[in-house]
This record gives sequence, C-alpha cells and structure tokens, in this order.
Amino acid sequence: MHIAVIGTGIVGVCSAAWLQRDGHRITFIDPLDAGEACSFGNAGSLSPSACLPVGMPGMWRRAPRWLLDPLGPLTVRWPYAPVVLPWLVRMLRHSTREEVTRIATALRSLLAPIFDCYEPLLAHAGAQALVRRSGCLYVYSSREVAAQWQWGMNLRRSLGVNMVDVERDQLEQLEPDLKGRFRFGILAPENGSTADPSALVKALHARCIADGARSDRRRATGFERQGRRVTGVRLDRGEPLAVDGVVVAAGAWSAPLAARLGERVPLETQRGYHVTVRSSNLGLRHTVMAVEHNLMVNPMAMGLRLAGTVEFAGLKAPPNYARADALLRQGRSLFPQLDTSEVTQWMGHRPCLPDSLPVIGRTRAVENAWLAFGHGHMGMCMGAATGREVAHLVAGRPTQIDLAPFRPDRF
Ligand SMILES: Cc1cc2nc3c(=O)[nH]c(=O)nc-3n(C[C@H](O)[C@H](O)[C@H](O)COP(=O)(O)OP(=O)(O)OC[C@H]3O[C@@H](n4cnc5c(N)ncnc54)[C@H](O)[C@@H]3O)c2cc1C
Repeated sequence: MHIAVIGTGIVGVCSAAWLQRDGHRITFIDPLDAGEACSFGNAGSLSPSACLPVGMPGMWRRAPRWLLDPLGPLTVRWPYAPVVLPWLVRMLRHSTREEVTRIATALRSLLAPIFDCYEPLLAHAGAQALVRRSGCLYVYSSREVAAQWQWGMNLRRSLGVNMVDVERDQLEQLEPDLKGRFRFGILAPENGSTADPSALVKALHARCIADGARSDRRRATGFERQGRRVTGVRLDRGEPLAVDGVVVAAGAWSAPLAARLGERVPLETQRGYHVTVRSSNLGLRHTVMAVEHNLMVNPMAMGLRLAGTVEFAGLKAPPNYARADALLRQGRSLFPQLDTSEVTQWMGHRPCLPDSLPVIGRTRAVENAWLAFGHGHMGMCMGAATGREVAHLVAGRPTQIDLAPFRPDRF
C-alpha cells in the first residue's frame, strides 16, 4: 500500500520504518524536519522501568500546592486553567491504586520490548551508537525519603522490572559525582538512553528515505474519503495526496486530525523544558533521576541535559524560560561543581492523555486509518514498539502486545 505517515517525530518515523519492512510505500507528511518537535529535546531515557503514570495515588493532595507555584514541578498557567481543569480532574480519576496498577501493566507491555524493537531499526540504519545500555539510577537524599515512593517501586518490581537497592557507599562508587548529595539509590540496570534523541529520529528517517520513502513538507489538514475509506490527505496548500492508508502520528497536534477521522480523543499537552550544559565537567555514567526534585539528568553528545517538569499552557502560549532557569538552579544546587557558563534551553509539547496511555489503533469509522500518538513522557521509550504494532495492525496480523488498553475509542 501507499501509506501517508503524518508526523516525523519518533512515533511516525518508527511506524514508517516498520511498515517499510512489510513492503509498504511511505510518504511522510510534515512541514518540519524529522525529529524537530517534541522528539528533539527530550531527556533521551529509554527506560523499561518507566511504567508509572503521571497521576499517582495521593497526587490530589500535593497537586494544589504545586499548581500555585509557577516554577513548581507541575503548574498551570492561569489563563489556561479553565480549559484544562476538566482534563486534570479526569487524570486524577485515573490515579487510584487499581487504575495505576492497570495502567502500569499496560505501559510495561510497551516498555519491556524497547531494545528488541529498536535493535533491527538501528542496525538497518547503522545507528546503534546512538543508543546505550548504561542503566538508570533513581537517587534520593536518604533511604527514609525513598520510602515515600515505595508503593510505585514495588509495583514496578511486581511487573518484572529489575531494580536494585544501592546503599550510600556503593552509590558513590557507581557515580562519584553524586557524592554528598544523595545517600540512597535504586539502580535499574536494564535501562538505557540515547546520546541524541533528534539524531536518532533523523537517522531512522534518513534510512526510510534511502529505502524509497518520500517526504512531503506540507501540513495535513484533513482527508478525502469514499465511504469508510480514506483516499487522500488534504494539505495546507496544493492538491491532496492520494493514498491507500494513513497513520496519524502528529504528536500533540494529532487531535484535530483524529476528529476528522471520527475519533474524539482528549489529547492535552504537558509542556516540558530542558537545559543542556555544553561543557559539563561531570562524568556521569548513568542516567540519573533525582526523584525528590523531579529532575532527570542525562549525559548526551551535546552536553549534560537536565530535563523535566510539567506545565499546562496549551499549544500556543510562548515558552516560560524561567522554568528552564529553575532547572538549571536545581542542577547547580545538586552538583555545585557544574560549569554552567554555556547552556541551551528548550521547551517541548508532550502529547498526553488523561490515563497516561497512548492511543494506538484503527479508527472505528474508517477502515484504512490508524492512530499512533499520545505517548506523553515516554515517546522515545515506546516509539519503536508502537511502530511494530502499527505494522501488525496495518497488515491485519495479530499484534504482539494486547492493544486493548490503547484503543482510540476508550474515552
Ligand atoms: C522535557 C521533556 C523530556 C522528555 N524526556 C523523555 C525521555 O527521557 N524519554 C522518553 O521516552 N520520552 C521523553 N519525553 C517525551 C517524548 O519526547 C515524546 O513522548 C515524544 O517525542 C513524542 O513523539 P511524537 O512522535 O509523538 O511527537 P513529536 O516528536 O512532537 O512529532 C510530531 C510531529 O508531527 C508534526 N505535525 C503536527 N501536526 C501536523 C500536521 N497537521 N501535518 C503534518 N505534520 C504535523 C510535527 O511537526 C512534528 O514533527 C520528554 C518530553 C519532554 C518535553
């Protein structure tokens, strides 16, 4: 088939790469270069352990305090509050222990095969060097403090995640630069990360193009249909593109396209920031998650990246780089030796659903349209497995993962 893949972030590019392996002809539709939107500046962690949703039990008690702090870990810009409030209530409804257990089980099914699903794509693109299996250290100021997150850690373990307690002395051996700040850690040895998320997307995209995919640099605005089938993609200029099928993987911008295919999906964006310290004088060997600070620190090709936090302000509001400054201040307080003379800042739009699960599946009304978006905080982790499952759906093969929790019509 000739399939249009709308969106060249990690999800669209991985979907295209897996579809090409089945012999389909691909046209990418995206006005941007590959890997330039949310897939550009994320923290790059590839974590089979990251199966907990954003809305955790007890969050409703902490959330009001956070929401009032414009530089806090989770904030709402006031003009956007009336828009997002019903969505936040929905998210909190999914934060009971039963719901979190169900969600974590589903997320784990997409996260466990991260490396199996990336491996063939990376090997084919000659991009293996962009992915490392160096482990992730969750670090805490003390073992007592870590106990606050015990329920979630136990849930991860019950789902097969290998997590090893690390006492202070061992922590200092594993990561000498953490000395003095953190006295307890949990090592997820099977985790990995990418040295450059955007380069990873670009490498996979370039391989697809070399294998015959075409690139259309226009914006998709809707679809031409005949009965229950899409026959073309309408674009912001020029003639529609005739297609045999379409995959919507437009990240945080996917909802209007899904609606044109008959699926109303409550997609919201959780905006996140990074600051990358160019010539970091830290020699971190792992991805480090400073849990109490909601801060992820990852050594990358272009420097040390500090990333995290959530801001609700929609797709149009300009970035508030005071939030990136706050990340940097936090980095300096945790690592006083950090050389911060040269830094870059960035804001990206995470595509999020209230249950923290992505949407992966065929639309009800249209036989040849598939949706793959809403990967929230974990799109790099889940991109390759999503692509593999999309290829199964398009081929009409049984999927390797139970996709029921990700159905587009679950809302
Ligand atoms: C601060 C931060 C840290 C993060 N850290 C991690 C991490 O460590 N690990 C992890 O797994 N995830 C992480 N994430 C999440 C991850 O970045 C996202 O889940 C992922 O990039 C989403 O990929 P995507 O392909 O769905 O969307 P995107 O990368 O946003 O791509 C969507 C593409 O669709 C295009 N598009 C939109 N509308 C249209 C249209 N109408 N027509 C054509 N094209 C269109 C856009 O131009 C864009 O290129 C982080 C995110 C942030 C913000």
